Amino acid sequence: TIKNDYHSSLAYYDDELLKRSIEERRIIGEFERALEQNEFVMFLQPQVDEAGKAYGAEALVRWEHPERGLLSPAVFIDILEKAGLIYKLDRYIWEKAAEKLAEWKKNNAGAYHISVNISTKDFYLVDVYETFTGLVQKYEIDPEMLKLEITETALMSDFKKNMEILKRLQDFGFKIEIDDFGSGYSSLNMLKDISADVLKIDMGFLRASENEVKGKDILESIIVLADKLGMEVITEGVETEKQLSMLTRMGCKMFQGYYFSRPVPVDEFEEKYGIN
Ligand code: C2E
Ligand code: MG
Ligand code: MG
Ligand code: MG
Repeated sequence: TIKNDYHSSLAYYDDELLKRSIEERRIIGEFERALEQNEFVMFLQPQVDEAGKAYGAEALVRWEHPERGLLSPAVFIDILEKAGLIYKLDRYIWEKAAEKLAEWKKNNAGAYHISVNISTKDFYLVDVYETFTGLVQKYEIDPEMLKLEITETALMSDFKKNMEILKRLQDFGFKIEIDDFGSGYSSLNMLKDISADVLKIDMGFLRASENEVKGKDILESIIVLADKLGMEVITEGVETEKQLSMLTRMGCKMFQGYYFSRPVPVDEFEEKYGIN
């Protein structure tokens, strides 16, 4: 009957909530120890130019959990953000990236950069400016080797203040990338107030370009727009040759996606691209 359905769906809802809160507690409870034990690892995914050459990489964190295996950020990032802990993980990954860049620089590996992700919550608990300028000094790397990825949604949470911090970092020499561009609500409006160096087009646009009538036109327009505004543009989520050639025709010159490589452990990245 209707009544029974109603109750069983409520029970299901309860179960889901309970499961989620158990999972949250587990992640939060295990976090500090895991960080100390170096269970969080930086993976790298190449960012590739027109010629198919990797010119840099994005740092993407993975949790090598002793019981659960390799955990993707989807499992823990939101939880750590909500718990006010993400800054600890981010600082750790940023430092790993700086350390690696210093090593590459010392070995004359070439002009590689590493893009790191910044969470909106980082701005509350970390002096982002101090942290990045401090890392550059500590590891004697050039600021443009470390690119800073921030989503438009993250910027919007406190636009004026966050923008001011990013502007100072840019003046220092860091490159700013807008991540997941187009997935938020404010995309076009924010572009007039922002001075980013790189626009990363959310992979949703690439998917839409294949399934929706207007998708192609929208994607191409974003590429043209970024160029007009003096920003480099990189498309995320490139999985096929066909997508690559379409994007190239549209004027996109930089790509990231499984077609080239999934995110891989650092030594695998170095081996594949002949670094070190
Ligand atoms: P993001 O920064 O937008 O990173 C791109 C995501 O797309 C990565 O997922 C990457 O593995 C995935 N991806 C790349 N190419 C393809 C493709 O061709 N097809 C598909 N389907 N996916 C592709 P990942 O590594 O699971 O990370 C998810 C999100 O977690 C990231 O999105 C970022 O927002 C967050 N994240 C990852 N590492 C960190 C970190 O160290 N700190 C913070 N705060 N967030 C992080
Ligand atoms: Mg990113
Ligand atoms: Mg992205
Ligand atoms: Mg994302």
